[in-house]
Amino acid sequence: MSSALKEFTPKADVPFYQATGHEEQLFETAWQRKLPLLLKGPTGCGKTRFVSHMAAKLGVPLYTVSCHDDLTAADLTGRYLIKGGETVWVDGPLTRAVRHGGICYLDEVVEARKDVTVVLHPLTDDRRLLPLDRTGELLEAPDNFMLVVSYNPGYQNLLKQLKPSTRQRFLAAEFDFPDARTETDILMRETGIDHDAAEILVRIAGAIRNLAGVDLEEAASTRLLIYCATLLKAGVSFDDAVKAAIVEPLSDDADIKAGLHEAIGIIR
Ligand code: ADP
Repeated sequence: MSSALKEFTPKADVPFYQATGHEEQLFETAWQRKLPLLLKGPTGCGKTRFVSHMAAKLGVPLYTVSCHDDLTAADLTGRYLIKGGETVWVDGPLTRAVRHGGICYLDEVVEARKDVTVVLHPLTDDRRLLPLDRTGELLEAPDNFMLVVSYNPGYQNLLKQLKPSTRQRFLAAEFDFPDARTETDILMRETGIDHDAAEILVRIAGAIRNLAGVDLEEAASTRLLIYCATLLKAGVSFDDAVKAAIVEPLSDDADIKAGLHEAIGIIR
């Protein structure tokens, strides 16, 4: 265990995360050095699980926000609300993490409104400040605050790329689907299916990932494989499970779906 982790008492219930490289070490160093971290990678490849795992290991609260195109800076910092006839200020998740310590994880940060980057920039400076214009406060982030953001570069939406001036404020790590052996282990560990079944699902995913970009916008993620394995474990037939957990979530196009079923049939 590294020195960064020794300073904290890990919680008993650390969510399972199978490392695929040196990402845990990078996270610990970023935490220790008070640097913000950007995780890049396709959806469902383990970014969120990794952050929950690290937060639990470090024994700090985790504030996760799934960003969407209506999410504004006020959703993160907080707002005045009327409670029992009085107007009270209620901290948003980012402010809570800065005020009390913890990791704030902004999932798919590029989806959020532009004003979000305005509140993130001063927090990623070495002064680590969060100005709250509405309350007139200027909060200084404590040592046990860390900002982690993720985004999926694969969407190829130029309007939704992270600006260089923002991304250069973060350490960055690229995530991808685990290698076949690791992914097989993850499926077995997460769902309890046997090795042979897990291996078939991973081979199916491999074949579909080779098609990605050609016919499909997104490849079959580890998350979809977990869903499929969960259905198999619950006694759902193989054909029904792959249809519900892999083919239908990936496409609406009848030809593409037929192609996927064919590719799956060959592997099976
Ligand atoms: P992302 O945040 O990248 O969209 P998630 O972290 O939600 O993806 O991953 C989806 C699911 O896949 C997780 O809930 C977990 O079950 C599984 N998973 C993916 N990668 C890993 C890994 N390396 N170790 C353990 N579980 C994983």
